Amino acid sequence: MARRLLRGRVLSFVSEPQGLDDTDSYRYWDDGEVEIEDGKIVSVGPFDGTQHADTEIIDHRGKLILPGLIDPHIHFPQMQVIGSYAANLLEWLNTYTFVEEQRFAEEAHATRIASRFFDEMIRHGTTTAAAYCSVHPQSVDAFFGEAAKRDMLMVGGKVMMDRNAPEALRDTPQSGYDDSKALIGKWHGKGRAHYAITPRFAITSTPEQMEMAEALAREFPDLHIQTHVDENLDEIVFAKELFPNLPDYLGIYERYHLLGPKTLLGHCIHMTHREVEILAETRSVAVWCPTSNLFIGSGLFDHDRLHAHGVRMGVATDVGGGSSYSMLRTLDEGYKVLQLRGQRLNPLRSFYMMTLGNARAMSLDDRIGAVEAGKDADLVVLDARATPQMALRMEAVGSLANELFLLQTCGDDRAVVETYVAGKPMKSALAG
Ligand SMILES: [Zn+2]
Repeated sequence: MARRLLRGRVLSFVSEPQGLDDTDSYRYWDDGEVEIEDGKIVSVGPFDGTQHADTEIIDHRGKLILPGLIDPHIHFPQMQVIGSYAANLLEWLNTYTFVEEQRFAEEAHATRIASRFFDEMIRHGTTTAAAYCSVHPQSVDAFFGEAAKRDMLMVGGKVMMDRNAPEALRDTPQSGYDDSKALIGKWHGKGRAHYAITPRFAITSTPEQMEMAEALAREFPDLHIQTHVDENLDEIVFAKELFPNLPDYLGIYERYHLLGPKTLLGHCIHMTHREVEILAETRSVAVWCPTSNLFIGSGLFDHDRLHAHGVRMGVATDVGGGSSYSMLRTLDEGYKVLQLRGQRLNPLRSFYMMTLGNARAMSLDDRIGAVEAGKDADLVVLDARATPQMALRMEAVGSLANELFLLQTCGDDRAVVETYVAGKPMKSALAG
């Protein structure tokens, strides 16, 4: 394949920014280039106009070239649930989500929505996500099948759920295990697919099913595990009733040996001191979902508390509980959540979190999350002048950090000029 060279303002983090003046935490070239071949980044550095015979040069001058954005918690069957009016989590699940997810028994529906899902990821500059599929194996086939067509690095899994849901959405401990195992064999490691063992949350799994999830985790120790914890106060009370004699909600997953460095735990809002310590000890990942937490009214994530305890963290959309596919909108709402908590989230840290930080949270930083030679060529090109009001505001913006903050505060998919997946421009190729 011919070489492709992107010219623009290249920004990539190398470590977690400790403050706005932490210039060691990132690399930045004002007139930079990223050279791509066979889906990988070959080199990155200042633009050199002399050495590029046989190379297609794509001019993104003035725009920011960053690693593709990463969303470590999203529900692909909830595209037609986003923006549903409900009082709280359990009402939202029962009234909308558990109804909509039943439609994924039908393969044609699952395939149509999966296709639209990846188009939406690309439109918003997201190149990798960790997604919950529905209980139906065919939803996982649709998910990974459509991801493979686009060569996208995706993490996903069939939700295991055998109680407290409509019958059409329930598996059994045995069928949940068998279906998951068959899907692991079929998809994990094929192309860029990563399977995640996915007990939906403790409320929808019996102890027998949790044992089956534990058995899968033991058989396949390299896989991700994804679930939810401590999102909503009523949910916590209910979970503890269902699993009595355990110290707390996180203690349920601990009891079944489901915690560890590849475990992604959505929400982690209302946590006891013991739970925070267990998160840190097991190196499990707390995944913060600000638009979802605000939309469903679940609570305000305590970033600084978890950070002070050394808990690993990611930040995600949680569509359809979340209200936007955009990681820019997500971090904007995240910023406001922390303002209400009296905490600060500086723009360098925001952009670190949606790129390298989330890659690290997902243990995928050997492949993605940075614009570096040898990494997969998943990139996003952002324009802080994407709308008239942003362009006007940019006239008065004098620093990279303030430009990032404007992108986060006012930007959305309109600020995404192009999305490269394994070196291919994908957004400009979308119809409509
Ligand atoms: Zn979720």
